[in-house]
Amino acid sequence: MARLVLKFGGTSVADVDRIRNVARHVKREVDAGHHVAVVVSAMAGKTNELVGWCREASPIHDAREYDTVVASGEQVTAGLLAITLQSMGVNARSWMGWQIPVRTDNSHGAARIEDIDGSDIIRRFEDDSQVAVIAGFQGLAPDNRIATLGRGGSDTSAVAIAAAIKADRCDIYTDVDGVYTTDPRIEPRARRMDRISFEEMLEMASLGAKVLQVRSVELAMVHKVRTFVRSSFEDPDAPGMGDFDNPPGTLICDEDEIVEQQVVTGIAYAKDEAQISLRRVEDRPGIAAAIFGPLADAGVNVDMIVQSVSEDGTRTDMTFTVPASDLDKATRIIEAAKADMRFDIIQSEGGLTKVSVIGIGMRSHTGVAATAFKALANRGINIRAITTSEIKISILIDGEFSELAVRTLHSVYGLDKVRP
Ligand code: ASP
Ligand code: MG
Repeated sequence: MARLVLKFGGTSVADVDRIRNVARHVKREVDAGHHVAVVVSAMAGKTNELVGWCREASPIHDAREYDTVVASGEQVTAGLLAITLQSMGVNARSWMGWQIPVRTDNSHGAARIEDIDGSDIIRRFEDDSQVAVIAGFQGLAPDNRIATLGRGGSDTSAVAIAAAIKADRCDIYTDVDGVYTTDPRIEPRARRMDRISFEEMLEMASLGAKVLQVRSVELAMVHKVRTFVRSSFEDPDAPGMGDFDNPPGTLICDEDEIVEQQVVTGIAYAKDEAQISLRRVEDRPGIAAAIFGPLADAGVNVDMIVQSVSEDGTRTDMTFTVPASDLDKATRIIEAAKADMRFDIIQSEGGLTKVSVIGIGMRSHTGVAATAFKALANRGINIRAITTSEIKISILIDGEFSELAVRTLHSVYGLDKVRP
């Protein structure tokens, strides 16, 4: 017998029929003797609709009231799933964030979870094998009001609850059947991974693989929550679905649990990047702080930063990327602060893509970067900027080459080969 958290996203609970299918997944685990907490999202499209209504009521609105409105989507699905489970003879009870409570900080609209009291849920597991059906995406802020966790936040709810109740595993049921070596829409030969380490998944998620909210992967890594990504659309009672040790999907786990390490495990990409270059910046202490401080204060998400080594010690070039949607804002801030930033001219360009090669094996292998550069060169793809970390190489290229670059890198590291 194990303790499991099962999380179902918006497409998995899009209507009552699908909720019934979700209930069958839950029942299968309950019938196998496990103690189960379920975390649900709002029905697909519901949160967008609720956000739209807030804007329609007033373009500028109180974040606490926004939370009151948007948290309602999850309340509906939690109640509906509890009703459906009960009708199937499963002892189930719904829980809102404030009832548990899931305590958050005061940042309404983008709150962070601070503490979860799992004791009542655990007691009910032990006394009555009761299933807890928990509304994701929401908690209780110190001001005693409902707070939501930011879009995609029910992944984070699920992992946090798994950590709080010391679950053996957190199964994230979604509309894809696992984590792939790259985006299968770009490279049909992408393969589903059996396992991926927390660190690698964190990179994949931050770099555009939209399977999980980034924050949920951070939490899973910190609390070592074994997290499993699997499909909710498969027949809940198909053979192997309830296999405890080896269900179909991708396990995100500690690297110690990964026996066969690959040098490169995946290729991620982020489209719609923009590049900003400040030319002939005065080369003196404090200049990077003067440039990036105001951008950070304005909430501009600066990513790759490349400062060239000054030729004569007086002037240098500073190049960095921001999401294309932030380009105008960033340009305005920089131009307003030109006197403090001490540069000569600013150049910028949108429509770029960042392609990244990810793998913990890079720590102990050489030549990984050179392989990428050569492969891209053979395709005539120009590299605009490069950054690396211990387990990642990110390359900035022109957007028109995105697909070609992803496919080229995917094949040059042999990721399209079926492994024995
Ligand atoms: N319903 C929320 C959203 O759409 C939370 C989630 O689905 O994870 O962002
Ligand atoms: Mg989601």
